[in-house]
Amino acid sequence: MEQLMRNFFLFLSKNKTLTKLAKKYGLRFGAARFVAGIDIDHAAEKIKEINRDGFVVTVDHLGEFNDNEKEAIESADECIHAIEVIAEKGLDSELSLKMTSMGLDISYDLVMKNMRRILDAGRKHNVTVTIDMEDFERYQKTLNIFKELKKEYDNLGTVLQAYLYRVEEDLQDLNEYNPYLRLVKGAYKESPEVAFPEKKDVDENYKKIIKMNLLNGNYTAIATHDDAVIEYTKQLEKEHDIPREQFEFQMLFGIRLELQKRLVEEGYKMRVYVPYGKDWYGYNMRRLAERPANVLFVLKGIFKK
Ligand code: FAD
Repeated sequence: MEQLMRNFFLFLSKNKTLTKLAKKYGLRFGAARFVAGIDIDHAAEKIKEINRDGFVVTVDHLGEFNDNEKEAIESADECIHAIEVIAEKGLDSELSLKMTSMGLDISYDLVMKNMRRILDAGRKHNVTVTIDMEDFERYQKTLNIFKELKKEYDNLGTVLQAYLYRVEEDLQDLNEYNPYLRLVKGAYKESPEVAFPEKKDVDENYKKIIKMNLLNGNYTAIATHDDAVIEYTKQLEKEHDIPREQFEFQMLFGIRLELQKRLVEEGYKMRVYVPYGKDWYGYNMRRLAERPANVLFVLKGIFKK
């Protein structure tokens, strides 16, 4: 039943008509639990509070699967604006973004143009930019863009997904770039031809790549809400004397707040991924797919005035 619900929410997350409809209305269906506001000014207020509580942030202007050039350019403009607001308000925040929002499905040149503008702004204001990883169809293209841009920009990171069979190879392949990598389990519905279908295999592979990347000496963001993986990372830290400056934990805004707080109290760097924007629909549906129990929040959202 749970698997059915997951698939249902992932199916809904890709529906373009619903995505467009959702943009017209403010945050609905419990989205305010996972999304910081519809614009950067609202998000900046939240980020200030989050910073005050001892967390660092990566802010994400929601948007994906842009299929026209004008929207992709506007998305890039918004990212630059977000970087400027981060700098003006002195927020402790990085920026995350998706290649499909920069025009990946339109043209490579468009993405590169948009990314260079954003990375120039990031460089100017000392803001690091992380390229989120999307579905497998766009995986190789995203890695290629990352490698190309990493030659020009230091303030760039990306994400690797533990559910992919090929992730170990990619992690080793990226080693020469001395990359800032966020490691995650993976959020998309992928075919068993490319990704482990069993959760226990994903969890094992996740631990494996965390260990590999830390022992490679690369900065590692462990982005998970899973207690077992967090405990495993703490063990690695002890066993291999890994300095705390070499890694951080990351979690999504609104999820497992007590755990987030505890990690800060224990002296770990804890980064909160804070999404904002009108395009909240696909993001919200993926959070529901990860944990169908969250549907209760959605139902409350529907009935709340
Ligand atoms: P799970 O095994 O799914 O969950 C472990 C436990 O965490 C659960 O038992 C539950 O208690 C809790 N939990 C997990 N999810 C939720 C939820 N939605 N609500 C409430 N409790 C929950 N994926 C990508 O494919 N590409 C990316 O670029 C990407 N970036 C990410 C950035 C950050 C900062 C984070 C935290 C995740 C990102 N993800 C990304 C999503 C990731 O791939 C997983 O889908 C997601 O984190 C759920 O997996 P988990 O590691 O938390 O473990």
